[in-house]
Amino acid sequence: MSTSLQVAIVGGGIGGLALAQGLTKAGVSVQLYERDESPLNRKQGYRIHISPVGEEALAAVLPAEVLRRVVETSSHAGDLLGGFDGQLNPTFEQTFPGAGPDTVSAVDRYAFRRALMTGLDGVLEFGREFESYRETADGRVELRFTDGTSATADVLVGADGIGSRVRAQLLPDFPIVDIGVRCVYGKIPLTDAIRSVVPAAFLRGFNFVTDGAGPGLAFAPVLFRTAPAEYGDYLMAVLTGTNEVLGVPDEELFALSPEGLWDLVVRRTRDWHPTIQRLVAAADVGASFPITLRTSTRIEPWQTGRVTLLGDAIHPMTPAAGAGANTALWDAARLTQALVAGDLATYESEMIENGRAVVEESLRNAERMFGVQVAA
Ligand SMILES: Cc1cc2nc3c(=O)[nH]c(=O)nc-3n(C[C@H](O)[C@H](O)[C@H](O)COP(=O)(O)OP(=O)(O)OC[C@H]3O[C@@H](n4cnc5c(N)ncnc54)[C@H](O)[C@@H]3O)c2cc1C
Repeated sequence: MSTSLQVAIVGGGIGGLALAQGLTKAGVSVQLYERDESPLNRKQGYRIHISPVGEEALAAVLPAEVLRRVVETSSHAGDLLGGFDGQLNPTFEQTFPGAGPDTVSAVDRYAFRRALMTGLDGVLEFGREFESYRETADGRVELRFTDGTSATADVLVGADGIGSRVRAQLLPDFPIVDIGVRCVYGKIPLTDAIRSVVPAAFLRGFNFVTDGAGPGLAFAPVLFRTAPAEYGDYLMAVLTGTNEVLGVPDEELFALSPEGLWDLVVRRTRDWHPTIQRLVAAADVGASFPITLRTSTRIEPWQTGRVTLLGDAIHPMTPAAGAGANTALWDAARLTQALVAGDLATYESEMIENGRAVVEESLRNAERMFGVQVAA
């Protein structure tokens, strides 16, 4: 591919933003189209664990000032993965000592995306909802948007997440399955009163509380190095279980208001340790939302052309390995190199192999954690 290559990315999530940064840094002409009207907060989850895989990819694609912004707006690094029963008796503990002062091991999604947008003025366009594409006779790709506008590029990258319209057109039979687990995400602001009662482990990393057969409630902190203007430190809290375990069918769960959803969390943890009840009672109830856990099952190669995919658009996975965002970042770093080298085929084969392995790990973890069996 020539140095005058023009790349269009659909989707300004974690992978799309990282790719736009990498290509801009490499001097490749790129345009990023995001359907959201603005960069404001979205209920897509709050805390994201960043693994060494994600950290390495960020270091590879980001210009120094953007990387500095990511570090500054990230959470102080944790050093613990823990488990408790409902009475707060420890059931397992794994520690990860040795984080350096600039280690990024957890981020707040909103602050992270804002940092990744640094310097992308003129590249990132909001309010551009992609509809479909068409390969033109002169060897380019034409993108069509829902507002009737269009754009052209040499290569189109679908970074548009699990519901990807780019993938729907490129790989119409791509299978995505519902693993039968539902989550209610919430936020507990870390006020002085809450800091005085929260178990120390909950401020050191991801902790999962469960009595086995019943629902699980995960807690994980975001302790900002520099907080965004809009809010401060918090504990992310996530209730998980099948509809049966949660005691509500989907029609009811997805119709509940944020207050109704949080009331479900209160009710399902009513018999647990008083400290957990105190934490749950201190949540910002308006911040809660439900999600369905889905995964890909088979990722088959396709004929390399002018349209490719990254992140959740091609390997959606459950959050049970904490790897979806990290794998999207890995893809972005590899795809940056591939576009510069003009070798999309190698990117696609490596990305598919890596994506399959991580999807598999996350699915096995989910089956163990949530007691479900998913047919491939
Ligand atoms: C609640 C939750 C918690 C998670 N926790 C973790 C974690 O701790 N660690 C981890 O590694 N992963 C985690 N993940 C997974 C992680 O969020 C995803 O894997 C990651 O965001 C994938 O990045 P992406 O760029 O591929 O897609 P996304 O981040 O989903 O971004 C897709 C973007 O495309 C845009 N878009 C979609 N359709 C269109 C369209 N038609 N036109 C234009 N734009 C469009 C969307 O608005 C969005 O901005 C979590 C996921 C969820 C839901």
